Amino acid sequence: MRPGLALPPLALVIIGGTALLVLAVGGLAAFLVALVGGVAALALGAPAIAEAALPAIPAQSTALPELDALLEGIDQPMLLVEGRRIASANRAALALLGRHIVGDDVRLAIRHPAAAARFGGTDPVESSAVDLIGLGSAEQRWEMRIGDAGRGRRVVTLTDQTLNDAAERMRVDFVANASHELRTPLASILGYIETLGDEAGEVPAVRARFLKIMFDEARRMQRLIEDLISLSRIEAEKYRPPSERIDLPALVAQLCTEIKASGSARAADLTCAVGEVPAITGDRAQLLQMLHNLVGNAMKYGRAATPVTITLDTAPGGQARIAVADQGEGIAAEHLPRLTQRFYRVDPGRSRSIGGTGLGLAIVKHIVERHRGRLDLVSTPGIGTTVTVTLPVAVMKP
Ligand code: ADP
Repeated sequence: MRPGLALPPLALVIIGGTALLVLAVGGLAAFLVALVGGVAALALGAPAIAEAALPAIPAQSTALPELDALLEGIDQPMLLVEGRRIASANRAALALLGRHIVGDDVRLAIRHPAAAARFGGTDPVESSAVDLIGLGSAEQRWEMRIGDAGRGRRVVTLTDQTLNDAAERMRVDFVANASHELRTPLASILGYIETLGDEAGEVPAVRARFLKIMFDEARRMQRLIEDLISLSRIEAEKYRPPSERIDLPALVAQLCTEIKASGSARAADLTCAVGEVPAITGDRAQLLQMLHNLVGNAMKYGRAATPVTITLDTAPGGQARIAVADQGEGIAAEHLPRLTQRFYRVDPGRSRSIGGTGLGLAIVKHIVERHRGRLDLVSTPGIGTTVTVTLPVAVMKP
């Protein structure tokens, strides 16, 4: 237990790296400072606050509204436990565990076998964090940590890990999806290699047909790998703002020239309406990739021989605005929120058969986010789709 220290008139409370200076005027103040300090260090993974910075635990408590408010404002459930009784609980703890837990045995309040083991004496109380799966609701996971607050009191903090779990699940799903997408064309190529080794390979027309299929499957794998590399590069640069000065009218004009010269069957359907817009700060290669993906989709999913239009203009707020519109079968409203998720497709068979990787819009979303822009997808089934990207203009240096 911590040795008793004199109560200073001011106490430093460190929460998540932010230092708050708190006027400590009474017994409860010192106790709460110890409580908050301990909790901040435990809950936020901060190094433990130096012993000398923590005031003594007083025998008597007096009210300190600032610290009460501070504890109440923390949205992480926190309990003060004396022996096994709950002496105090903040609002978040009451919301999670019930209004009447103060005074209860902590093992009854946190109805979870892992918590009961920790407080029941079978596990050492101060050891590592405990996972409480299913506390609150079946899908939730909380991490419980216990810190020594002195004089036989313990601070219990509960940290919601449910979102971290969801992020981990997404990562696992992504690896599984990417492996599956690569395995399918690879299995097809291996099958055709085997067949070519048989007599079928000796018939020139059959051999040519098989080689064409193998080539297409290999190209599909190549496109997928290129998109995966792009995505990971863009994500790696997420927090590094782009720094090139971009002349968007010139960039869009270059894109239109490239597509017209590409010999694509849909190139003749492309119309480019390039207006005057101020320069933006961006990443040229990424912006070109974003536009290629959007125009590529408009051409793939728009009806044959219908126009695909790129419009560059200035939005009412002064930002640069690029809209890519097609006249295709459109997208039903329920799919719109999920289209930028990796490998999400409205019709997976159709997307694959026209060379889609299912990563185009995920790449677009990350590029727009890195440019601090905004992405809007508007679609009317049976009529068509318009994807709009709004980008902030460059700030002029004085
Ligand atoms: P894909 O490689 O499958 O085209 P994207 O990430 O670019 O992958 O797009 C995801 C899905 O969104 C597509 O499979 C398609 O179902 C839908 N989609 C994208 N753009 C359009 C569009 N312009 N019109 C209709 N559907 C579209």
